[in-house]
Amino acid sequence: MSSTTPQSDSDQAGHLAHLGRMIAISSGKGGVGKSTVAANMAVTLARQGLRVGVVDADLYGPSIPGMLGIPGDTPPAMSPERKVIPAEAHGVKVISMAMLSGDDKPAVLRGPMVTKYLQMFITQVEWGELDFLLLDLPPGTGDIQLTLAQAFPLTGAIVVSTPQDVSLKIARRGLRMLEQVSVPILGIVENMSGFTCPSCGEVTHIFHQGGGAKIAESLGVPFLGAIPLDPAIVDSGDSGAPLVTSAPQSPAAQAYDAIATALTGAADQGGGLRVPFDWHIGDGTGKPAAASPAPGGAPDRPVALDYRAEGLRIGWQDGTEQVISARDLRLSCRCAACRDEMSGAALLNPETVSLDIVPTRIWSVGNYAIGIAFSDGHSSGIYTFTALRALETPEAEDV
Ligand code: ADP
Repeated sequence: MSSTTPQSDSDQAGHLAHLGRMIAISSGKGGVGKSTVAANMAVTLARQGLRVGVVDADLYGPSIPGMLGIPGDTPPAMSPERKVIPAEAHGVKVISMAMLSGDDKPAVLRGPMVTKYLQMFITQVEWGELDFLLLDLPPGTGDIQLTLAQAFPLTGAIVVSTPQDVSLKIARRGLRMLEQVSVPILGIVENMSGFTCPSCGEVTHIFHQGGGAKIAESLGVPFLGAIPLDPAIVDSGDSGAPLVTSAPQSPAAQAYDAIATALTGAADQGGGLRVPFDWHIGDGTGKPAAASPAPGGAPDRPVALDYRAEGLRIGWQDGTEQVISARDLRLSCRCAACRDEMSGAALLNPETVSLDIVPTRIWSVGNYAIGIAFSDGHSSGIYTFTALRALETPEAEDV
């Protein structure tokens, strides 16, 4: 878990709100077409009129600039405020390690450095207002991916896999890892799912079909679609003209299009509350818009927050609603000042907490918790969604 203070988390929430929905594109292993999916998805979303940015977070093998025809060795320009101006191609803004190091020099970076670079890519880049920021993660399901998934307030992640059993098994591991760190899975994409004949355009299934859909079903996550194996994808990637622009009518381009549309829907519904947010309760600014509950949704993923006289009302994705009084919230603070870290014993004397205490600000902490500032000036508690859901509240009720 990140050890950032609530103050910096709330600052981060305020600073990142303009980035829109932040979506990680991940894969269990390399070479399954993750970056190709990220590049084509970004261009498809831009062609649908959305404002899109891509962070090429695959620091060891940055390939997004090449796929979009952006010269790899041109250092990006700086704004007068000393922010990096992203490159732009096919209507998509891009920042990549390749632009900083030259794409033929492999970036030799250790885990903490990777997170530092990516923090910079996200906070020190002049992105402007975006609807989507796609993060092309490095392949794999190790510590680096875990750290990245936790370091940013992701709306969710998609997992790209090829149809072979071994690849799907690795993808399943990746899905489990993302779930463990509370990153909503927006869906699975199956790539190289059948062969498109270059002369007749017919799609033949070389590997067995439907593995991605089966895994999605068994894990209860959406299946976003399948992209056929198409030699034109390799050519278009190499030439810097993504398939969705060079052959928009091809079955593969149509598949990207359908997946982008499914992704937009999944990001709207499946992700619960949009993070980051920084809600000033007094004047109502920054209040996160409510999302819809979903049948079979997660019991510890909030879809709505509201504050009324009786307390903080949380609507959970599984359709239940919980009301926690301001005083109960304050008393359940588990920060080091309120709770002994070793024994868990309460250090806060309930008699010192006034009956009319109210929260003044609530902000998102990553995608797993909220921070709360109270009218008594206390603001160092982090309330994980799981801990909030587990709070005994007599008012908890089904809706
Ligand atoms: P990853 O990011 O998972 O390592 P890439 O996106 O770099 O994978 O793709 C690896 C190679 O596979 C590239 O040469 C790319 O052009 C090719 N490729 C990706 N998707 C397809 C596809 N559907 N059909 C044919 N080739 C593909």
